Amino acid sequence: MTQPAKKNIAILGSTGSIGKQALDIVRANMDKLQVEVLTAQNNADLLIQQAIEFLPNAIVVGEESKYLYVKDALQKHDIKVYAGADALCQVVQMESIHIVLAAIVGFAGLRSTLAAIEAGKQIALANKETLVVAGALVTEAAKAKGVNIYPVDSEHSAIFQCLAGEFHNTIEKIILTASGGPFRGKDSKFLETVKKEDALKHPNWSMGAKITIDSATLMNKGLEIIEAAWLFALRPEQIEVIIHPQSIIHSLVQFEDGSIKAQMGLPDMKLPIQYAFFYPNRVYSSFKRFDFASYPSLTFEKPDFTSFPAIQLAFDAMKKGGNMPCILNAANEIAVHAFLKDQIGFTEIPAVVEKCMEQGHFIANPAISDYMESDKETRIMATACCKK
Ligand code: NAD
Ligand code: MG
Repeated sequence: MTQPAKKNIAILGSTGSIGKQALDIVRANMDKLQVEVLTAQNNADLLIQQAIEFLPNAIVVGEESKYLYVKDALQKHDIKVYAGADALCQVVQMESIHIVLAAIVGFAGLRSTLAAIEAGKQIALANKETLVVAGALVTEAAKAKGVNIYPVDSEHSAIFQCLAGEFHNTIEKIILTASGGPFRGKDSKFLETVKKEDALKHPNWSMGAKITIDSATLMNKGLEIIEAAWLFALRPEQIEVIIHPQSIIHSLVQFEDGSIKAQMGLPDMKLPIQYAFFYPNRVYSSFKRFDFASYPSLTFEKPDFTSFPAIQLAFDAMKKGGNMPCILNAANEIAVHAFLKDQIGFTEIPAVVEKCMEQGHFIANPAISDYMESDKETRIMATACCKK
């Protein structure tokens, strides 16, 4: 298949951590990439600034009250301005778009990602919650439409890179690496006392607030286990987690002959974003190179499932299937939000998730409307748990 001279991309969540780094990739590859769509929820000023720089065909501001402000600021430019969640689902269908970077955080990214798949757009997927909540639906839709989902999450990109040239070979297992977050080695007693300021200090990565807290509770790894199962068609027993504090090995694949392949590099999300944009090609980047001599020891340890129960909760949700991962995700989003508002303590985050998983209404074969309903119900339940 011949490649278009320039790839037209839509960046959903362009004002976020992933969105901004994706625009850095565009800046460095103006001859290969064209921004067609930018979207943001609240940060109207940054969205306007990005629109003036990249001159996309259309932009969407999620927060409808900001529509006039954005429209006014861009009146001199030939850029279509829309607002609201429905507009997001419409713009991704634009004829001219080749690839959609799904970089909205949380359940809020599901509908637009599904709409893009329905329109046959290739997907660069950062929004892991989409696969956690509705992995069956999303992967089936992608298959039916001949859409490829290119992982942007660094672990999944690592596995995808290890699989290049190996897609016909049987995977024995994958090993997802985790930094362990800021509280690695701490016990439950200590974790009861931690404050959001400490939890927001990730040792290796600079990311949005929600994923940073998920990395501290290790729920991020839990979500990634479920994401990996859908992306690579794996059974739960084929997925392992290992703590690797230096975040140099981004994940590993073990094949049925016992050989293990790993993908390595300094922690920098720009690499997986760029790989997703240009797959199957690798293009030049000026990112800082890894130097073995600077890292004389790369270390590995087992995760502590007692102090960090989130990984087990995710395994349980995945094994149960149906809407259970959707319940896990919604409860977690509410609990993380409550923690960030100082309404609950750090160790209450997994406790709220567990409670919602116990009490939530289970549906074995959910349709999209069931996921919407289940997400809504769980949010109400989790909010009540956070007030107790
Ligand atoms: P972020 O909070 O920095 O940015 C989120 C973006 O989504 C913003 O542009 C925001 O305007 C938009 N948004 C938020 N709520 C919205 C809503 N209701 N409707 C429409 N848009 C909305 O988050 P991030 O760290 O960039 O993460 C984005 C996604 O990528 C998450 O799913 C995260 O798990 C995943 N991810 C991030 C990283 C990272 O390094 N930041 C790494 C791997 C995966
Ligand atoms: Mg990751």
